[in-house]
Amino acid sequence: MKKTIAISTVVLGVAAAAVILSSQTSVFDDLLGQSDHKAQVSENSSNPAAPEKSDSTNTANSTAGKGNDTAAQTDTKEVTAASATMSSSQAAFQNYLHENSPALTVMKNAEGKDIVTNENSNLVLVNKKRELDSTYIPKDLVVAKVTFSFSGTSPKQQLRAIAAEALEKLFAGAKKDGIELAAVSGYRSYVSQKSIFDNYARENGEEEANTFSAHPGQSEHQTGLAMDVSSASVHYDLDESFGESKEGKWLAEHAADYGFIIRYQKGKENLTGYTYEPWHIRYVGVAVAQQIKKDNETLEQFLAKY
Ligand SMILES: [Zn+2]
Repeated sequence: MKKTIAISTVVLGVAAAAVILSSQTSVFDDLLGQSDHKAQVSENSSNPAAPEKSDSTNTANSTAGKGNDTAAQTDTKEVTAASATMSSSQAAFQNYLHENSPALTVMKNAEGKDIVTNENSNLVLVNKKRELDSTYIPKDLVVAKVTFSFSGTSPKQQLRAIAAEALEKLFAGAKKDGIELAAVSGYRSYVSQKSIFDNYARENGEEEANTFSAHPGQSEHQTGLAMDVSSASVHYDLDESFGESKEGKWLAEHAADYGFIIRYQKGKENLTGYTYEPWHIRYVGVAVAQQIKKDNETLEQFLAKY
């Protein structure tokens, strides 16, 4: 990963200033590396617009080298340097996270419900406070080519294309390690979720049902990015025993490497609104999944930071 050193204000000679403003990142890095000035990591280096700005002011020649250090120390003209050397890919990633921040991706509908506005994003956050519109159906659903716990065909074999491909790789990776996973339930339409929830509510009462099943619109399965996974060793059950099985342990360890998170973690019930579900994995992309796993966060906690 590129180094993200930034200097907010640097005292530089006129010649050196021209180099800085014009510089390719590598030249800037060289200059910093050869300078006696201590590089300061700046809080405002997270401004993603900065690198583009400095790139666009590429007017002077960039052949001037370390000799300018002397000028920098003798000439006291103050220059507020472009405050960033964050690579453009990092900036784009930060921007992507910001665009998906919970505060920016919700809108009240006519009934006063909070409906998510980034329903097609891999980072869409759906929970008991943020719903998918009842009409939302992903446009790129495909059948995941993995082992299922049941035979025949069903809509629940589907995921969005990117998640299906990632799941296929995950299952292949598991197999390589001698682990046999089985997919149990993926995409679920609003209508189908409504029927499931209504059944549970009839049997258990709505409040109880709400702790383990989702109201229609509040299920991640409607995003096409979530799959319930189990194994023959626990009779394909979706319960905590899967988390204790060798397959469940493998999944918890490796899911992030394929872009999935265990969405409902033990001890995070107050943040996710759901009890521990070692079987429910959610696609978010590899970079985000690995970060969430490393920091032991929920998707709610992760996205709220941006
Ligand atoms: Zn699930």
